[in-house]
Amino acid sequence: MRAVFITGASSGIGAALARHYAARGAAVGLVARRAEALAALAAELGGTAWTDAGDVADAAFMRRAASAFMQARGVPDLVVANAGISIGTLGAAAEDLAVLERILRTNVLGLAATLQPFVEPMRARGAGTLAGIASVAGFRGLPGAGGYSASKSAAITWLESLRTELAGSGLRVVTVCPGYIDTPMTRVNRYRMPFLLSAEAGALRIAGAIDAGRSLAVVPWQMALASLALRAMPNWLYDRLAAHAPRKPRGLPG
Ligand code: NDP
Repeated sequence: MRAVFITGASSGIGAALARHYAARGAAVGLVARRAEALAALAAELGGTAWTDAGDVADAAFMRRAASAFMQARGVPDLVVANAGISIGTLGAAAEDLAVLERILRTNVLGLAATLQPFVEPMRARGAGTLAGIASVAGFRGLPGAGGYSASKSAAITWLESLRTELAGSGLRVVTVCPGYIDTPMTRVNRYRMPFLLSAEAGALRIAGAIDAGRSLAVVPWQMALASLALRAMPNWLYDRLAAHAPRKPRGLPG
């Protein structure tokens, strides 16, 4: 890859992906809100890293960032819409409606606002990959995480629509659904996380799925099997399991 644009690059999976692609010679574009964290990563990666700090849900900011990156480094071979937040929510809690709005703005609107500015430049070139980081949490409604599950479910279907719209254009749309990856987002969880991967191991598998151009990839493979079972499960059985499932802490940004 010659040039790769990644959002949510100041931490966790995004930073690990940036290290992965930079180590293989790509010029990386890094976006997140925390300018200092981006600057520190760019310094670590060396000369070709490009940064811009802002909110992915601000579509005007993302248009400017995409255009500045393309002027500086050309049309990227790959864009990874990875920025996201996870906060526990309860459907019965009035105060959680504002949290739901914030999660949807970042995880759905932010994902679309990240990929959209690159579609026409990539289409004109006839090649490029648009990747979105969704989650296995988007396959079923997780108790205590309605906002997050809804946002990832919306991300999966939005990316699928984009994929069908771009059929025949030479562009690839890859939806990646990670299971549990050890990052600040999951470090607040007080329950056992099956098949937990380090951010580096997770990034390696995510990059593998992107390179392979898979339309939908669940990582790691053990989580793919669990997801198949979850998706096929009848509601009565899912409801029984969900009643005992651990819950994400409420009100914690991450
Ligand atoms: P982290 O919390 O470590 O990183 C999240 C990144 O997103 C940070 O760089 C953060 O940067 C950025 N970000 C958050 N909100 C915004 C915003 N409004 N505008 C710009 N950047 C933003 O989490 P992970 O690395 O774990 O998560 C990365 C993605 O992977 C997310 O979409 C998450 O939902 C998904 N995922 C993670 C899993 C896991 O187990 N960790 C499992 C499944 C999916 P800053 O604060 O500087 O803005």
